[in-house]
Amino acid sequence: MSVKPIIRCNCGQRIVAKDVMQTGYYLRLFGPSFVYVKYRCSRCKKLGEQFVKQEDWEDGILNDIPTEVSQADKKTFEALGPITLHEQIDAHFELEKPDALSKLPNGMASGLSKSETSAQGEDSDASDN
Ligand SMILES: [Zn+2]
Repeated sequence: MSVKPIIRCNCGQRIVAKDVMQTGYYLRLFGPSFVYVKYRCSRCKKLGEQFVKQEDWEDGILNDIPTEVSQADKKTFEALGPITLHEQIDAHFELEKPDALSKLPNGMASGLSKSETSAQGEDSDASDN
């Protein structure tokens, strides 16, 4: 069960921490307890409320969807803007080139060169000992 529970407005917009106006705890003597969330949807601006089972509630439930992109990368990507149709076409033609695959490892290797050299350094240290 890797699907994390999230809170959604009726309009489909995901509710995150900044939309939440109030949270509460709804304890029951029998049966599951609930966490109560009152929110104002950032998209449709409607007020809503939702009960989430305590067992489904977790720390990340109100966080933005986590990504592997660092903050610095995120800024770079945002500065670049959305990928245009022309860029998609260019990428398509690049892939059709016969040497497209042979180019790929080189590009990846140059990005990894730093960690590779450090790994080699560790190896030589080990052999010296
Ligand atoms: Zn909404």
